[in-house]
Amino acid sequence: MNIDPTALFKLGYGLYVITSNDGIKDNGLIVNTVSQVTVNPDRISVAINKSNYSHDVILKSGIMNVNCLTIDTPFSVFERFGFQSGRDTDKFDGLAFSRSENGLAIPEISNNSFISLKTDEYYDLGSHGMFICSITESKTLSDKESLTYAYYHSNIKPKPEQKKKKGFVCRICGYVYEGDELPDDFICPWCKHGASDFEPIE
Ligand code: FE
Repeated sequence: MNIDPTALFKLGYGLYVITSNDGIKDNGLIVNTVSQVTVNPDRISVAINKSNYSHDVILKSGIMNVNCLTIDTPFSVFERFGFQSGRDTDKFDGLAFSRSENGLAIPEISNNSFISLKTDEYYDLGSHGMFICSITESKTLSDKESLTYAYYHSNIKPKPEQKKKKGFVCRICGYVYEGDELPDDFICPWCKHGASDFEPIE
């Protein structure tokens, strides 16, 4: 098969913090998989990796908030929401936030809008679960430019240290795996992306 995996890197994506609540604490994670899929009524699809705690929380609670990030988002927001798990950390520790009508958090993190969603349908897609949602509330918070995945890679993610090491670097978060060969089933310990998101250090 003529499959060039780098062709997939040309797909355009935004980046979002999805907030939820397990009944005890607020939670959030970073995804690039939010799309408006229909109009009249407007419906939004959100795909979430099933290994993420938020997946189970949203499956149970049936609600989430999409917080659209801007190009001003500091790397610390990705470390906070992307590189640790809500299973064992409080991702809202020390973070200012307000609440939408559904009771979920809207963190103060350079987000230019939020969209509150109610999940109508769920599809088990293997690695990810896909939620098809209707909108219960939405609001624009600023006119700052929205963040794309491409902008994140070129301007926000720290560049890997240029050492004379053999290894592979995670395209998503910059984690470096040292070694001659990366196992096919390797999972990034920081952002939980798989081996296909690693590239050799030049
Ligand atoms: Fe990573």
